[in-house]
Amino acid sequence: MQKQIALVTGASKGIGAAIALELAACGYDIWLNYRSDHAGAQAVAQQVEGYGRVCTLLPFDVADSSAAETALEVLLQAQTPAVLVNNAGYARDGIMALMRQSDWEDVIAVHLNGFFNVTRLVVARMLKKRSGRIINIVSTSGEAGVAGQTNYSAAKAGLIGATRSLAAEVGRRNILVNAVSPGFIATEMTQDFPLEHVLPRIPLGRVGQPEEVAAMVGFLCSERASYITGQVFAVNGGAHI
Ligand code: NAP
Repeated sequence: MQKQIALVTGASKGIGAAIALELAACGYDIWLNYRSDHAGAQAVAQQVEGYGRVCTLLPFDVADSSAAETALEVLLQAQTPAVLVNNAGYARDGIMALMRQSDWEDVIAVHLNGFFNVTRLVVARMLKKRSGRIINIVSTSGEAGVAGQTNYSAAKAGLIGATRSLAAEVGRRNILVNAVSPGFIATEMTQDFPLEHVLPRIPLGRVGQPEEVAAMVGFLCSERASYITGQVFAVNGGAHI
């Protein structure tokens, strides 16, 4: 395969780290974004290099448009990623009546502004190249109602809408845009969730692993997925059918 680059946001741990490793195993060099976990990012970079690929660390907050521009513009002048995975994110759960304004704004900002800030820069380059794959990591919470996650559900449902509209907009330039929607996946983000409440709602009877989400992303970035765009692919053990 020709040397190609995948930009993965939020890849210092969890699902993003698994995606970076999956894509490295598929032959991509990785531009690895994260926010604050330098040790985690360096550990993932070492594993990427174990696949014989180059890993470029890009610590910046995806919700900060000027930080995204500063980090990416120089690189984008030289190279255009073949793949962008918008994965960076977090939840700030709480019931609506007591939700702090900052918990609403931060969750919307990291998922929706984060998508906008990074994708706007990258898709401009992909349009010139007339090829690219963009994968947005959404959530079951963006497809089904989940009490205590009004902010997170709004952000992820918004990202599903953005996925469909962008797919319609850039398809003629051979840029394919899809969403992957994980259910309950074992990562730092979910480590404090009470499993006794979660497991009864999952037909497969277990939580998912980050690698099981990454496998879907790997498929969507492959030649075998060349006629798929604007879709949402659930990886949730049947938690939402
Ligand atoms: P995680 O283990 O907590 O990892 C989150 C990653 O995102 C970290 O690398 C973190 O970087 C990065 N990040 C957070 N805010 C960022 C920002 N403002 N700018 C740049 N990077 C940022 O979470 P995860 O479970 O892997 O979740 C990854 C994605 O999957 C999220 O979008 C999440 O909503 C989605 N998801 C997760 C689940 C699940 O069950 N785990 C289910 C559905 C969807 P640092 O740690 O370096 O700050």
